[in-house]
Amino acid sequence: MKKIAVLTSGGDSPGMNAAVRAVVRKAIYHDIEVYGVYQGYQGLINNNIKEMDRGSVGDKIQRGGTFLQSARCPEFKDPEVRKKGIQNLQQMGIEGLVVVGGDGSYRGAQRLNEEGIKTIGIPGTIDNDINGTDFTIGFDTALNTIIEVVDKIRDTASSHERTFIIEVMGRDAGDLALWSALAGGAETVLIPEHKKDVQEIADKIQQGIERGKKHSIIIVAEGVMSGDHCSEELKKYINVDTRVSVLGHMQRGGSPSGMDRVLASRFGAYAVNLLMAGESGYAVGIQNNKLTKTKFEDIFSSHHEIDEDMYRLTNELSI
Ligand code: ATP
Repeated sequence: MKKIAVLTSGGDSPGMNAAVRAVVRKAIYHDIEVYGVYQGYQGLINNNIKEMDRGSVGDKIQRGGTFLQSARCPEFKDPEVRKKGIQNLQQMGIEGLVVVGGDGSYRGAQRLNEEGIKTIGIPGTIDNDINGTDFTIGFDTALNTIIEVVDKIRDTASSHERTFIIEVMGRDAGDLALWSALAGGAETVLIPEHKKDVQEIADKIQQGIERGKKHSIIIVAEGVMSGDHCSEELKKYINVDTRVSVLGHMQRGGSPSGMDRVLASRFGAYAVNLLMAGESGYAVGIQNNKLTKTKFEDIFSSHHEIDEDMYRLTNELSI
């Protein structure tokens, strides 16, 4: 393979730049021409494709977001629209494409692979909700961002003897909520994968108050309910002073953590290795600290699951 391209798609995540840098540098190291597609699949259709040199990815490894930019492009589901993107790549002699993104981006990559462009996916999302990998790029950074906030909120919560409800990202997956609850020492975590009775949460807070506890922290994933809704529900059962913090998009920003930079660099280089070996239709991942590849169809065949042992542990340690 002589020419490849790379794009970032879907929601951005810290570490995407490090992945693009690795793809570009690894390709150049092996004398492969490498192109950056700006604005995801939208840029592919619009022919927003530029050749990268080693300097194009200089001073990027530490930056959050994605310098290639990302875009939602629902029309990419239409085969006629994809044809335009494929033609743009083929006219430039580009045979392989690395797609950094989430589940939706993988679906686009799978279609491209079936339609003549060799593709490899790299998991880039803060949600950690992609099958075939223990971790996605951006999860560790987002987790650390949340923990920093939880620690700060804990200071003010105990000074005023308040119950704080912190709403974090996670529509379908509770990984960010669960990991931040365990790492932040929260009293309660609400995740989409497990139903929890509000009365039960209120009873727990009450028992804590009776034991002399100065504050309570509840972490709720946005997919369960909003922080405000959680507060209203709680007030039906217990008379406590509650405050709500919605972390929102700050969770997606920031300089990537060391773990995310290393993960992204390993993924990017591995993706190029696979394309050089003539392999395609795979997403790369990490399982038990070993790089792995999983066929796109196997990624879609089941739903991402929460770590049940960790859920149990979080509940056991927050008594
Ligand atoms: P995240 O969930 O972290 O935001 P994602 O990659 O799942 O990331 P989506 O918005 O679901 O984000 O998908 C990104 C893009 O992938 C879409 O805008 C669209 O261009 C393309 N895409 C999604 N689903 C398909 C599909 N079934 N066929 C072709 N392309 C698709």
